[in-house]
Amino acid sequence: MCGIVGAIAERNVSGILLEGLRRLEYRGYDSAGIAMLNGGNKLIATKTVGKVEKLVNSVTASKINGSVGIAHTRWATHGKPTITNAHPHSSSKEIAIVHNGIIENYQELRGELLKEGYDFKTETDSEIIAHLIHKERNGGKASLIEAAQKATQKLEGAYGLCVIDKKDPDQIVVARSGSPLVIGVGIGENFVASDILALGQV
Ligand code: GLU
Repeated sequence: MCGIVGAIAERNVSGILLEGLRRLEYRGYDSAGIAMLNGGNKLIATKTVGKVEKLVNSVTASKINGSVGIAHTRWATHGKPTITNAHPHSSSKEIAIVHNGIIENYQELRGELLKEGYDFKTETDSEIIAHLIHKERNGGKASLIEAAQKATQKLEGAYGLCVIDKKDPDQIVVARSGSPLVIGVGIGENFVASDILALGQV
């Protein structure tokens, strides 16, 4: 189980997310990734296999920035350490999630979601969470937090989870069960991480 960092602010948070991931490197990981909502409410993401520094270079080259974002270092438990399997995972180009832990009933949930027409791109247990939240949003009838609450009720296993949704760009929804998450409350900006070390002052 590896690292999560999330941030929401009125300034660009890509540097904060990447610095947070650097601080979580000591835990070990095989790949890393970041997803952000920029001002135009576009969901943008990049992922790399190997060192966080490669992700830093990718973010710099593609000029990814935004005031809401989630980032992850993965230690693969389900599926090989590849770019496709690296987090964040998304659903319908709207919702992005990062997950630490293991979802034990993912095969069953995956089967149900396949029947509903969801398309799976990865071998991970985590991807089902993005689709499940998308399904529970029910075309916008449920808020992001309501959808995440309904989705997490169906999960068995351990999770630290952060969710962003381009249709609801003013929040990051977080949830945990059996995996750690800490929240840092700032003035006009808030942070979340799987380890307090990621949140110390830069
Ligand atoms: N089980 C998930 C995966 O294999 C998350 C692993 C982690 O906690 O880094 O993608």
